[in-house]
Amino acid sequence: MTYTTERSEALYQRTAGVLIEGGSSASRGPATFGDYPLFMERAEGSRILDVDGNSYIDWMMGFGVLPLGHAHPAVTQAIVEAATSGAHLATATEIEVEVAELIQRITPAAERVRFANTGTEAVMAAIRLARGYTGRPKIIKFEGHYHGWYDDVLVNSNPQLFTALGHPRDPVKIADSSGLNRHALEDTILVPWNDLAAVERAIAAYPGQIAAILTEGVMANMGIILPAPGFLQGLQDLANAHQILFILDETVTGFRIAPGGCAEHFGLRPDLTIYGKALGAGLPLAAFVGKAEIMAALGWGGVLHYGTQNASRIGLYAARASLRVLTADDGGAYHHVWRIADALCSGWQGLFAQRQIPALVQQFGPMLHIVFTDRPAIRDYRDFCRYVDRGAYTRYVRALFAHGIYLTPMTTLHSVVTLAHTEEDVALTLEAAGKAMDDVFR
Ligand code: PLP
Repeated sequence: MTYTTERSEALYQRTAGVLIEGGSSASRGPATFGDYPLFMERAEGSRILDVDGNSYIDWMMGFGVLPLGHAHPAVTQAIVEAATSGAHLATATEIEVEVAELIQRITPAAERVRFANTGTEAVMAAIRLARGYTGRPKIIKFEGHYHGWYDDVLVNSNPQLFTALGHPRDPVKIADSSGLNRHALEDTILVPWNDLAAVERAIAAYPGQIAAILTEGVMANMGIILPAPGFLQGLQDLANAHQILFILDETVTGFRIAPGGCAEHFGLRPDLTIYGKALGAGLPLAAFVGKAEIMAALGWGGVLHYGTQNASRIGLYAARASLRVLTADDGGAYHHVWRIADALCSGWQGLFAQRQIPALVQQFGPMLHIVFTDRPAIRDYRDFCRYVDRGAYTRYVRALFAHGIYLTPMTTLHSVVTLAHTEEDVALTLEAAGKAMDDVFR
């Protein structure tokens, strides 16, 4: 059967008079997909179907929000239960206590928990809290890290021309958007990642002025880039030594690489941690958690955090169901996703090697990303900007669609393995991966 996407194309044309770029985020539109995006219709387990009836193995999984895969029965039942007993009660609720206690059990740094809706909101609130608690204005943000679309952190989170980045001792701040508050980035200190000496210099340059060091544990928005050995611990130590709050953004890694995310894996004890994505198992739910004394500053009259939709009841039901599955069976879910990801990544890397295509599969546990490069590894944002052929990635991923494999064609965004993926999915994906290589690179 030939692969066609005519209905997607027709739907895209229909959006012209009503939506911008086909949807509500550039990553879902033609900026990423080419002439028109795929319109997806339904999904179950590891499969997603588009409006033309094409079925794909989905390795994108809702930008990582689905640790159990699509429409897991435990989650769908929980959603129905919550929805049919009142979607929003706008009071304190027992389910909120229960999920907070679950998070506390999973991650010891969560002495107190506060729920929000999205990673962006939780980051925003955590930064305000850090400034309020320390009485200091500035934050350290790393090159190539993405923490949502809040003004103060919307800088160098997209790839740029390498020659525009400036010297690593004085990185050029490149805002990722028009329309930012024009003072927003004044208090944001931009520093290269995986470089502790650079962080020390930044701290020395602004004595007593830095409220927080904000970092992803594993870079997950510039492909997948690992922290250098000891780097995260070094950051935490530096922060502690200078009364700076150490904020670990686990929006991507939380409940994904281990129940307790990067903090558990690398043995960290952040002052504040941000969760999103996988927490809600497909529903908009996020949280920021941390030390009791710091979190107490959120009390009335202190640091303000509001939100009509905070602690969505349906989201909390979904979260409880999902966290129960993830933490059952003595870590079985995590063994599964690491094992499947290892098989997928080594197989994929082998296919590139056989064909002598210069590409790497950069992986951390169940998170992975393909970079077309002749370097032995991509170690930071500057490497990514300088040495990665992003056009090749987009061409390759678009070719995979025709072979029934779905990853986001967005060049910086990684793929994830979920509990729903199987060994058969790996075998089918690798078969398709080789065919798509032959389509694009021969
Ligand atoms: N922090 C990180 C590390 C992220 O990857 C993202 C989103 O991709 C965010 C924060 C923002 O989360 P959201 O898209 O839910 O606002």
